Amino acid sequence: MLPLSSAELRELDLAHVWHPCTQMKDHESQLPLVALRSGSGAWLEDADGKRYLDAISSWWVNLWGHAHPHINDAVSRQLATLPHAMFAGFTHEPAARLAAELTRRAPKGLNRCFFADSGSASIEVAVKMSFHYWQNVGRPRKTRFVTLSNSYHGETLGALAVGNVELYKAIYRPLLMDVITVGSPDAYQRAPDETAADVARRRIAEIATLFADRHDEIAAILVEPLVQCAGSMRMYDAEFLALLRELCDHHDIHLIADEIAVGFGRTGKLFACEHARITPDFLCLSKGLTAGYMPMSVVLTTDTVYGAFYDEYTKLNAFLHSHSYAGNPLACAAALASLELFDNTRALETNASLAAHLGNAAQNAFEHHPNVAEIRQCGMILAVEFVRDREYREAFPWRERRHLRIHRHALDRGVLLRPLGNVIYFMPPYIVTPAEIELMMAVAREGLDLAVA
Ligand SMILES: *Cc1c(COP(=O)(O)O)cnc(C)c1O
Repeated sequence: MLPLSSAELRELDLAHVWHPCTQMKDHESQLPLVALRSGSGAWLEDADGKRYLDAISSWWVNLWGHAHPHINDAVSRQLATLPHAMFAGFTHEPAARLAAELTRRAPKGLNRCFFADSGSASIEVAVKMSFHYWQNVGRPRKTRFVTLSNSYHGETLGALAVGNVELYKAIYRPLLMDVITVGSPDAYQRAPDETAADVARRRIAEIATLFADRHDEIAAILVEPLVQCAGSMRMYDAEFLALLRELCDHHDIHLIADEIAVGFGRTGKLFACEHARITPDFLCLSKGLTAGYMPMSVVLTTDTVYGAFYDEYTKLNAFLHSHSYAGNPLACAAALASLELFDNTRALETNASLAAHLGNAAQNAFEHHPNVAEIRQCGMILAVEFVRDREYREAFPWRERRHLRIHRHALDRGVLLRPLGNVIYFMPPYIVTPAEIELMMAVAREGLDLAVA
């Protein structure tokens, strides 16, 4: 069979596929679907041979580039031996070794790994485990969850309920559990005389009041450490996490850290919680976990939580939650190979200089742009917030969809950028070169000039 051309592939797809997070009508005119054939390093190639620099790591999952030889080898070897097996009653080397490696590298005290199959599923697991823990230890009134404004934790009903991006959530509200929402420490919203740390402390004071009043009914609070990625890459001070940990300890409230997007080196440390030197009660990981190879997630938790579920079966307090593909050996093999790359390439050190390059390139391209309100960065995440009016930070009306002009222009120029509303961001794989950083920045600048015109 001959491979399909781009046009044929698009036609076949549009006849049968329904794409994620997409108004499918857009694909008829506004946004031609890109039909990919291959990927290599930081580049994707479409069915007509046009190449695209993957400046956003294919929705933040890809750490080492596409088709990395070391991960390919590990997955191929696993493919030939055991592609999949059920994980209840059975184990295998990739999962056991991965759990050992993750607990060794994670913040101290997270000694148990529970595997699931997507980021959203890991949030469901953490929420259910926290709730169930309080039932098991005789505190049945602790059933409520606290979440930050502008947070995102996934799309399944539980994960959607604890998230706060209205665009994804509003229509489903009648189906969602009721949560308590507190203000995000988002530093973009600081007052003119405030620092990021001031915002963090102000928000903590509000949470302290809430916890003091209602700790009897609160099971856990969820946070995305340092960066609310889907929430327009808003960032906050690490002190927020340190103070929140203290508050949670004081009031017997679980801290659930959703590092699905920021884990695995994105922020400059292997895990973002390390910036605040804290151990959450639950750490949710996915996306970079398998370096963009296979859908998998994991929830790490403490001996204390694990211990509350450990008893005679007839006590009926076990965690009876499962996913068919939990602990999939191919995914675990990819994850182990990715962890080896952190060791072999000293990526966290090289990322520090790549991040500095990213920061400089962004300053050069955007610092004096009349429509740029803020350039913010956390390690290998850099975001540029554009506005109609720089001084008043007045946003462009969302209906104008100006970011699509940037997306389309970048695709024309061979760069994959996908701004989130009025925020252009860069989250490149760790093998990106300085020249590629220059290219993505130049193309983004051109795109912004077109978008605000
Ligand atoms: C992507 C994401 C999720 C959801 O993960 P899926 O694998 O898409 O279900 C949850 N939380 C954060 C912070 C994410 O970035």
